[in-house]
Amino acid sequence: MFETYETKTKGNGALTSDVKITRSNGSRLEQTNLEDPGFGINFTDHMLSMVYGDGEWKIPEVVPYDTLEVSPAMLTLHYGQAIFEGMKAFRGADGAINIFRPEAHHRRFTQSCRRICIPEIDYSHFLSGITTLIDLDRAWVPDTKGNALYIRPFVFATDNLLSVKVSKTYRFLTITSPVGAYYKEGFNPVSLVTSDEYVRAVRGGVGNIKAPGNYAASLLPAKKAEDQGFTQVLWLDALERKYVEEVGTMNIMFLIDGVLVTPALEGAILPGVTRDSVIRIAKDWGIPVEERRIAIDEVFEASEAGTLEEVFGTGTAAVISPVGSIRHQDRSISINGEGIGPLAKKLFDEITGIQYGEKEDRFGWLHKLS
Ligand SMILES: *Cc1c(COP(=O)(O)O)cnc(C)c1O
Repeated sequence: MFETYETKTKGNGALTSDVKITRSNGSRLEQTNLEDPGFGINFTDHMLSMVYGDGEWKIPEVVPYDTLEVSPAMLTLHYGQAIFEGMKAFRGADGAINIFRPEAHHRRFTQSCRRICIPEIDYSHFLSGITTLIDLDRAWVPDTKGNALYIRPFVFATDNLLSVKVSKTYRFLTITSPVGAYYKEGFNPVSLVTSDEYVRAVRGGVGNIKAPGNYAASLLPAKKAEDQGFTQVLWLDALERKYVEEVGTMNIMFLIDGVLVTPALEGAILPGVTRDSVIRIAKDWGIPVEERRIAIDEVFEASEAGTLEEVFGTGTAAVISPVGSIRHQDRSISINGEGIGPLAKKLFDEITGIQYGEKEDRFGWLHKLS
């Protein structure tokens, strides 16, 4: 029940589905600074769109990026029957465009769909739609190292009625955005604080999928943390408030006495693709990895004993985000002198090296646009 992301073969098989294309009349690219694009604020000229009705997904279409007209009674606006994904494409030194682990993202996308009763979209439609979109907007993929094209596939219910029920119609869209660093800190360490008052997710709920409500629920605690001068909340488990789970948009890892420890996927944690990539690379390097429960007290005890070597978050947006300090109740620890740890740096270089085509894609993670 807890998912792993096996990448099959490179090349991903034959893509048979047709994608209809309607081109935009002009481009907004010239008004966009690809060297410093911000994060998720500028969108490319086109988007991918697919409608579900009469019990089936219709033909995927790439159309000009535009506003949507929706009914005020649209189910999603009221009851949140929607899910999303987040992945990236990179421009390699050779000019080629690499999408990072689209199959793993599609697998999680499918798990999200199932949990929210949204009809699934098969991989060939998902991938051929997205590659057609990126191909058409390929000039938008930044060639500055560190920047990338963020890809946001999402699906939402489009029936118009005020009744909590499974929609019969849906819209699948994918929009793309040139992005730079996610945190204003860039690759500099972030500060985390636990919450006594709030929880993020509980096993059996929807914390293990990318459902919009999870993020709505996190806004108030995140705002309170920020008001106190912290970057983000470090979530503890909802039942005992004892075990570390994750950060708002990142999984969390601890290097304790040479062992890489990360909370096990027990149903309340988002199964990050970056988390999975880090685990595989670490194991490949011979670093022992433990996926298990880790109490916040264990983290503080390791800090006291001098064995807490590094802490970092993992996620598509920031890749690796070093954690400089953690506050829990009335205690604070600082990690690695609030600097960037060597393992965090090495993992960041390895993953970004693969993404930008500078290092061998030895796990078959890249889908190259031809
Ligand atoms: C997206 C996300 C992550 C990271 O997942 P990646 O696949 O590595 O991007 C971690 N936690 C939450 C809550 C997320 O939404």
